[in-house]
Amino acid sequence: MPDQLTEAAVTAALQAAGLPVTPAAASALSAYYTAVTDTNRHINLTAITEPEDFLRKHYLDSLLCYRQELFAAAEKALDLGTGGGFPGIPLAALTPHICWTLLDATAKKLRFIEQTARSVGLENVRVLHARAEEAAKEPMQRECYDIVTSRAVARLAMLAEWALPFVRLGGTFIALKGPRGEEEWAAAERAVALLGGRLRERVTLPLPGTDESRTVFYIEKVAPTPKAYPRKPGIAAKKPL
Ligand code: SAH
Repeated sequence: MPDQLTEAAVTAALQAAGLPVTPAAASALSAYYTAVTDTNRHINLTAITEPEDFLRKHYLDSLLCYRQELFAAAEKALDLGTGGGFPGIPLAALTPHICWTLLDATAKKLRFIEQTARSVGLENVRVLHARAEEAAKEPMQRECYDIVTSRAVARLAMLAEWALPFVRLGGTFIALKGPRGEEEWAAAERAVALLGGRLRERVTLPLPGTDESRTVFYIEKVAPTPKAYPRKPGIAAKKPL
C-alpha cells in the first residue's frame, strides 16, 4: 500500500496553523499528494515524498504566507516558477474565489499540474508555459495580477525584476524565503524601489513541526514598473539591478 496523506491529517495540520481549511480543500490536497507521489516515478516533481514531510515542507511552508485580508480581496493571482505547484496549489485550494495562473518555463511539470488540478477539483487553476521575463512583457499579463507569489526560484533582487511587472498597482508581490531572507533584502532593496515596489512587511516565522524558520516578504506595488523591465532572459542574473 503506497503512503497516503489523509484528508484528516491535512485538516488537522492546517487548522493547527490557524488556516481556514474546508473539506473541499483538504480533499484536493490529499488527492494532489497521491498524484504527485505517483507521477514522481516518471517525472521528477519533488524530492520530498514522505506524507508528514510533504505536509510540512510543501503544504504548510507554502501556506505560511496566507493572510485572510490580502487573499479575500484578490481576484487574480500568479505563482511564478511554480515547479511541482508550490505555493500555487495549496494557496489555490484555500482560495477558490481566486483565478490562479501557475507559470513555469518547464512544460512537463505544467502538463501534470493542469491535468491534476482539474482531477482533484481545483477549478481555479490554469497554467502558463513561459519564461517570466517574456510573459511579463505581454499586455495581457503585465500589471494585471492582484497577487504574485514565488518560492525557491531566484534571489530576491532578480526575482523582483521578474515578478513586480506582473503586479497591478496596489497589488502585492509575496516572496517566500528561507532563513537567509534578511541578507537577500539588503541586496534587493534598490531594485525593488526602481521596479515600483515598496516593502510593506517582512515576517519571520517558524515552520510548524520543524526547527526551521522562513521569511516572507510582502512587497506592495506603489508605482508602475518602467517599460525597460524585466530585461531579456539571462541579464538579471548577470547584472542584478
Ligand atoms: N516554486 C517551486 C519550484 C522551485 S524550482 C517550489 O518551491 O517547489 C524553480 C522553478 O522555477 C523551476 O521549475 C524552473 O523551471 C522555474 N523557473 C526558473 N526561472 C524561471 C523563469 N525565468 N521563468 C519561469 N520559470 C522559471
